[in-house]
Amino acid sequence: MAEKMKAAVITGVKKIEVIDVPMPIIGPRDVLLKIKSAGLCTWEQRIYTGQTKADYPFLGGHENAGEISAIGDLVTNVKVGDRVTMGSSSCGSCRACLRGEDKGCVDHFLNFSLKGGQYGPGGFAQYKVHRSDGVFPVGNANWDQAALAEPLSCAIHAARLINARLGDTAVVFGAGTMGLMNTLVLKKSGLRVAVVDINEERLEKAKAIGADLVFKTGAGIRERIKEAFLGGVDFAITAYGSDEVNQDGLDVLNNRGKICLFASAHPVTPFAIDPNLMHNKETSAVGVVSADRRDHAVATEMIANNQIDLSALIDNSYPLEQASDAFEQATSTPSYRVMLNP
Ligand SMILES: [Zn+2]
Ligand SMILES: [Zn+2]
Repeated sequence: MAEKMKAAVITGVKKIEVIDVPMPIIGPRDVLLKIKSAGLCTWEQRIYTGQTKADYPFLGGHENAGEISAIGDLVTNVKVGDRVTMGSSSCGSCRACLRGEDKGCVDHFLNFSLKGGQYGPGGFAQYKVHRSDGVFPVGNANWDQAALAEPLSCAIHAARLINARLGDTAVVFGAGTMGLMNTLVLKKSGLRVAVVDINEERLEKAKAIGADLVFKTGAGIRERIKEAFLGGVDFAITAYGSDEVNQDGLDVLNNRGKICLFASAHPVTPFAIDPNLMHNKETSAVGVVSADRRDHAVATEMIANNQIDLSALIDNSYPLEQASDAFEQATSTPSYRVMLNP
């Protein structure tokens, strides 16, 4: 009889069951990870609430950190006992990889896709298989913070793609986990950063983690931002996806400013751009999702070396058996990351 492990599986809308599933089997280039921490990302939360459709049973978990408990015959970059974060893989030889843009590689979502494990990416379980090029040593870092290397890598990716530099200015729309992740990275990069949200508790949190200014959503938001930034900002990061936010973001840009479409929109609404305004102001729009492996490497190093403190973004940690409670807390408002510790 094959060995079994525990997994927290979504079996229907607002239904979680902790069940026994077969232990994953590793191939020659894979590692087996004992999961120490897993973040409940918005994607899995939407599947839990039924907002995003998925086939049940669904086993989520793509923000993970853990310890290597077995390695395949061809693995040389890590060894049993290493503490690692889990990121994407890449083939190393396709056009995207050769250009250092491996987010576009067909192997990018290998470890996270719906086919990545049994019924999903597989991180809400005691063990997970990962291809060895997708694990990154994280030293003695706190497990919950280490598990946030994946979302941190997305914010690092965004800052790199928009070319954020010392002295630039930015406004981040949305003070949830990813809005504040972007705020932390932009502050580290030397920018003056404002955060916009409707929720005052969230704005307090934004201030506490270092936002220079916070603005409550509402009348005159564009004017208030422009006044505080002498006419406009260099970057607008939309960590909340809606046409209203996109239009506010476009409106407050400086000449050559960039709007960064960081969040996906649910429901999706078309983004109307006035071509003459963009032409005359030489502004641009940049879409961003996930990260290249180099961004994940930077995120992991920053966490390993205590260069960034993500503790304010973690609300609570639950053992795997209490996965239902964890999902309930994660889908209430306002909430930041809720972690599972299998
Ligand atoms: Zn995520
Ligand atoms: Zn490739």
